[in-house]
Amino acid sequence: MTDATLSFEEAMEKYDPVLGFEVHVELNTKTKMFSSAPNVFGDEPNTNVNEVDLGLPGVLPVVNRKAIESSIKIGLALNCTIAETCRFARKNYFYPDTPKNFQTSQYDEPIAFDGYLDVELADGTVFRVEIERAHMEEDAGKLTHMGGAAGRIQGADYSLVDYNRSGVPLVEIVTKPIQGAGSRAPELAKAYVAAVREIVKNLGVSDAKMERGNVRCDANVSLRPYGRERFGIRSETKNVNSLRAVEHAVRYEIQRHAAVLDAGEPIVQETRHWHEDTRTTTSGRPKSDADDYRYFPEPDLVPIVASREWVEELRATLPEPPAARRKRLQADWGYSDLEFRDVVNAGVMDEIEETIAAGATATVARKWWMGEIVGRAKNADVDPGQLGVRPATIVELNAMVEAGKINNKMAVEVLDGVLAGEGTPEEIVQKRGLAVVSDDGPLLEAIDAALAAQPGVADKIRGGKVQAVGAIVGGVMKATRGQADAGRVRELILERLGVEG
Ligand code: ADP
Ligand code: MG
Repeated sequence: MTDATLSFEEAMEKYDPVLGFEVHVELNTKTKMFSSAPNVFGDEPNTNVNEVDLGLPGVLPVVNRKAIESSIKIGLALNCTIAETCRFARKNYFYPDTPKNFQTSQYDEPIAFDGYLDVELADGTVFRVEIERAHMEEDAGKLTHMGGAAGRIQGADYSLVDYNRSGVPLVEIVTKPIQGAGSRAPELAKAYVAAVREIVKNLGVSDAKMERGNVRCDANVSLRPYGRERFGIRSETKNVNSLRAVEHAVRYEIQRHAAVLDAGEPIVQETRHWHEDTRTTTSGRPKSDADDYRYFPEPDLVPIVASREWVEELRATLPEPPAARRKRLQADWGYSDLEFRDVVNAGVMDEIEETIAAGATATVARKWWMGEIVGRAKNADVDPGQLGVRPATIVELNAMVEAGKINNKMAVEVLDGVLAGEGTPEEIVQKRGLAVVSDDGPLLEAIDAALAAQPGVADKIRGGKVQAVGAIVGGVMKATRGQADAGRVRELILERLGVEG
C-alpha cells in the first residue's frame, strides 16, 4: 500500500520541518573494536571472526586504542567536548546479527558531546547543525535474506549471516533537533551527511565510502504547524545510504507526514525503510522513546579516561578542516565565488589541486576539469575522479598546446584517445597524425587558394573590414583539416593582403 503524500510545496506552506540525524561511521582500524580479528571489507564471509566477536563463553573484550583515538578526533573535528571519563554499556537484544545477544555501545556516557558542524549549502549559505553526542559502539553482523523479493526478510526462504562486520568499530554521531531549515530541509540533510563524510575522510579515520556502508544515516523527520514550539512526532528512516537518498528520503517523509496531519490523523512514531527504486518509505517497527534494551554498564571493560594531555596531543594532529581548506584553495587559485562553488559542486576540487601540483596553472586545471572532464563523467555516470584522467596527462596536453604542437581542438581529441586507452598523449598525437601545420609554406598555399575561392571577401578585407577575415581563416582551417594554428593563419592572411591587423 502506498501512503498518501502532499506536494512538497503545499507541505511547506503548512508545516515547519524538524530534522535529526544519526550517522554511523565505520572506523578503518586494522582490527575490531574489542578483538584482534581483522577489520577488512569484502573478505570471504565469516573468515575475520574470533571468539570475542562470537561471544563465546569466558572471553573478555579489549578496547582498541586506535578506535578511541579516532573517536576523539571525530569529536574534536565536530567541536565537541571530550569526556574526561566515559564508559561502555550493554544494549541487550536478541537477534541473529549479534551472537552475544547484546551490543557493546555507549549510553549515558558518550566519549564526545555538545558540538556543532557548520554546513555549507550549494549556494554558499552556512547552516549550523548542533551535535548532541558522538559515541562509540560496535557494528553488528550482516544478514542477507535469500529467496524473497528485494532482499527483504518478508517472504525469504532463508537468511545468511556474515559475522565479519560484527565488532567493527563505529562512531555514531547524533544531532540535536535541527530547526529552521524550512524548505531547504532536504538539501540541508544531504549537505550535512556530505559534510560529516568529508570530515571523517579528511581525518583519515574511515574509508567513508557510503556505497560500502562505511557511512550510514538514519534520518528523523517531524512536522509542526508554523509558530508552534513543541515538536511533532518523528519518524526515523533507517540506513539511508547515499547522499541523494538522504535528500529524497527527507523530502518524501515531509510530504507523507503532511498528508497524515492534513487528514487529521496522528503520526505513528516508528522506524521506516527507504526504497531506492520507488523513492518511498514503508513502515518498519513501532518505536517508543524508551525501547527496553535494559542498558547497563559493561562489567568487562574499565572506564575510558582520556587525559587532557592526550586530547591536546590528538588535537594537534588534526588536519586542516575541510571548510578552511576550501577557503585557502579558492584564494590560492584566484577563482571567483561562483567558479569555486561550481568546482566544489562538480566534485573536482581534489582533482584540480592535484593537477596544479603536477604543474598546471589554476586556470588551465579548471578549464580541463570543468570544461571537458566533468561533462564526460556525467555521460559515463561516474565521478569525474573515476574517469581515469591523470593530472600529468592534463599537464602534458596543455604543454603541447602551448608549444604550438597541437591546437585546443586536437588536444580534446587526444584526451578522448587517452580515455579510450589508446596510449599516452604523445603516442596518440603520433598515431592519429595530429600536428599543427606551422610551416608557413603549406599555409600560404592554402591561404591563396582560400582567397581565390572567395574574392568578394578578400576585397572587403582589403577595404578595411578586417573582421571578415574569419571566413578566410575558416576556409584555410578546413583545407588543412584543422591542423593549422588559427592565430598564425590570420596573421598571414592580413600580411598577404597588406592590411594592418
Ligand atoms: P533513537 O535512538 O531513539 O532514534 P536518538 O536520540 O539516538 O534516538 O536519535 C534521535 C534523533 O532524532 C536525534 O538526532 C534527535 O535530535 C532527533 N529528534 C528527536 N526528536 C525529534 C523530532 N520530534 N523531530 C525530528 N527529530 C527529532
Ligand atoms: Mg536511532
